[in-house]
Parts: sequence; C-alpha cells; structure tokens
Amino acid sequence: KKAISITSLNYSYPDGTKALDDVNIEVEQGEKIVIMGPNGAGKTTLFLHLNGIIRSDDGNVKIFGSSIGDMKVEDRIKEVGVVFAEPDDQLFMSTVYDDVAFGPLNMGLSEEEVGRRVKKALATVGLEGFEERVPHHMSFGQKKKAALAAVLSMEPRVLILDEPTANLDPKSKADLIRVINDLNRNEGVTTVIAMHDVNALADLADRVYVLNRTIVAEGTPRDIFSDPV
Ligand code: ADP
Ligand code: ADP
Repeated sequence: KKAISITSLNYSYPDGTKALDDVNIEVEQGEKIVIMGPNGAGKTTLFLHLNGIIRSDDGNVKIFGSSIGDMKVEDRIKEVGVVFAEPDDQLFMSTVYDDVAFGPLNMGLSEEEVGRRVKKALATVGLEGFEERVPHHMSFGQKKKAALAAVLSMEPRVLILDEPTANLDPKSKADLIRVINDLNRNEGVTTVIAMHDVNALADLADRVYVLNRTIVAEGTPRDIFSDPV
C-alpha cells in the first residue's frame, strides 16, 4: 500500500479561492518527498488535508489505503504527524515536557509510556534536559526542534514538515536535516517536506513535486533542476 495517495483533489476556500486544482500525489512507504512551490501555491492547504483538518468532498486522500475522512482521529495521528512552519502554532503549554507529552496523553497512553516517549523524542531532536524549559522563552531553532519532538512523540509513520529549515542558522539547519534523515533511514519514517530552500533539496528529497495549485512537475531533484539548455 502507498503511504499517501492523493487522487484528483480539488479544494476551494469558502470565499471562492481555488487553492488546489486536480492534485495527484503518490508516496511510497519510506520515501523522502519534497513539495516545492511559491507562496500561495497550496502547500499548507494540502497539508491540512493530510491532517484531516480540511476535508474536501472533491477527490480522495488515502493514508496506507484508508480514506482519511473515514479514519478515527486516534488512528490518524498514529499514521500522520504534521509539523507546521511556525512553531508557535504548535507549542502552547507552559513547559516543553507538557507540549511533547500532549499528543501521547491524548492517545490514552500510560504515564510511564508518555514519559518514555517524551524522553525519546527530546533525545531525537537534541533537546535533552529541556523538559522544564518554557517554550515561549526559547530560541526559534529550539522551538522548531521542540515542535518536531511534539509530533515525534506520537511516533507517526508519515512525517509532514512545512518549511523545517526556513529562517534557521546553519547549525540548526544542519541539525534538523540530520534528524529528519535519521528518522527516514533508521526508523523507516516516510517524510514529506514543503520547502523553498533549493540548497537543501538534494539532502531531503528522493523525489520532488512542484505544486502551483496543481502539480506542474514531478521527478528526482536532478530531473527538476537540470537545465535543459
Ligand atoms: P502555501 O502554503 O503554498 O503558501 P496556502 O495553502 O497557504 O499556500 O494558500 C493557497 C491559496 O489559498 C492562496 O491563494 C491563499 O491566499 C489561499 N488561502 C489560504 N488560506 C485561506 C483561507 N482561510 N481563506 C481563503 N483563502 C485562503
Ligand atoms: P512561508 O509562507 O514561506 O512559510 P512566511 O512569509 O509565512 O513564509 O513566514 C516566514 C518565516 O518566518 C516562517 O517560516 C516563520 O516560521 C518564520 N519566523 C517566525 N518567527 C520567526 C523568528 N522569530 N525568527 C525567525 N523566523 C521566524
């Protein structure tokens, strides 16, 4: 089964803005996909469909063979985790521990298992010892890592990241690229990343989709960016 299968997906916002026009995307389990597109291309709208926050009745979104509209929330969050571009949209508790524990607690896991997952997620992103820190007071790069940990603690099989490296210093950027690649390589996590940064593309993509309301190109980074002069 495909990790993600999006078929003929159309979506217009209530004000009539057509954000997605006949979008088709297929992602194999374990693939690393990058979705590129200018501002307003529909990347966030697409991710909100994968998160089940937006539902379109025009087209189909399947995760490991199940239509997302038919999945129970608790099943969906085990399959798909979405990390938003803006960490402040994701961190709303008063400590890092509480933010990273929030998902697993909602999954009904035991306190012991929640504690184990928080520890593991913080170690994965390199924030050991940050449990009692106040997210609001951390640097942007630390917040990005904490927001990722808050999704990793649910141990999703598909990880979706919106602009994971945007506005980071080179060190934090390299850290995050390594974390994402380790998750893909060592744990088989399928990754789908929206980004603008062409420089990091080769590191994070087996395959690229270029989105501009519809898919305008698809291929390896080399296919997409080699100049046919
Ligand atoms: P991207 O993430 O690629 O920048 P978005 O998915 O945010 O693109 O936006 C796609 C299109 O939908 C844009 O034209 C944007 O202005 C529009 N859009 C986004 N959110 C809304 C909304 N809540 N209501 C109306 N239009 C919206
Ligand atoms: P895009 O539409 O390409 O995601 P936006 O114009 O919406 O970009 O936002 C610019 C970026 O600035 C976002 O990725 C946002 O996460 C980031 N950002 C927000 N706060 C800060 C901050 N304090 N320092 C650096 N970058 C920030």
